[in-house]
Amino acid sequence: MPAAPEPEILAAFEAAKGFMPLDEGLALYAAAVEAAGLGLPLLEVGTYCGRSTILLADAARRAGVTALTLDHHRGSEEQQPGWEYHDPETVDPETGLMDTLPTFRRTLHRAGLEEHVVALVGRSPQIAAFWNSPLGLVFVDGGHTDEHAGSDYEGWAPHVAEGGLLVIHDVFPDPADEFTGQAPYRVYLRALESRAFTEISDAGSLRVLRRTGTGR
Ligand code: SAH
Ligand code: MG
Repeated sequence: MPAAPEPEILAAFEAAKGFMPLDEGLALYAAAVEAAGLGLPLLEVGTYCGRSTILLADAARRAGVTALTLDHHRGSEEQQPGWEYHDPETVDPETGLMDTLPTFRRTLHRAGLEEHVVALVGRSPQIAAFWNSPLGLVFVDGGHTDEHAGSDYEGWAPHVAEGGLLVIHDVFPDPADEFTGQAPYRVYLRALESRAFTEISDAGSLRVLRRTGTGR
């Protein structure tokens, strides 16, 4: 049986704003629990309002490690005003810009998981440029352009430890199924082609790969 969250964690997850369906969230949780056993931090690219972060944070808590979650909190292209995935509640009235950081903090507080999480606020390539520490799991759920998804892969996959997991969200092999482009699918293909990663499971558009070789 894969590890499953306790009912109160599941309730907090389901109440949180975000883009992670339950079945994929459960697969992410099982992967995170397994990877946390390596004793290394777990890292998420794409916090948004903290929905998936709850799952990584609870997996980290169980193993006594830290969940890192990275976002500039200004939203992806498709979440901007006028676009399909825009939520007006995420706009800061003072700046007129999206700011999901306050909602994220409330989400984590409500779930009782603040102390297990470190939020990295900034652009993914800028933080990756000075990162130099192994990770038990990297969850790629950030921007969906080739530029963003590609640099998330290039910046973070090299830090997945041997035996650690690379989890990619929004992988749509069939262009008819995709909502926001196929860049995550192309990243998934790159990871497999690199021979550094081997697929171990999937759920919906979520793919779980294990580092079984060197490189990225
Ligand atoms: N994991 C979330 C959904 C993430 S949505 C959930 O479970 O609901 C994608 C997020 O990636 C957005 O919040 C956006 O601000 C962030 N993002 C996109 N490109 C980014 C980049 N280059 N650096 C940092 N964050 C980025
Ligand atoms: Mg996603």
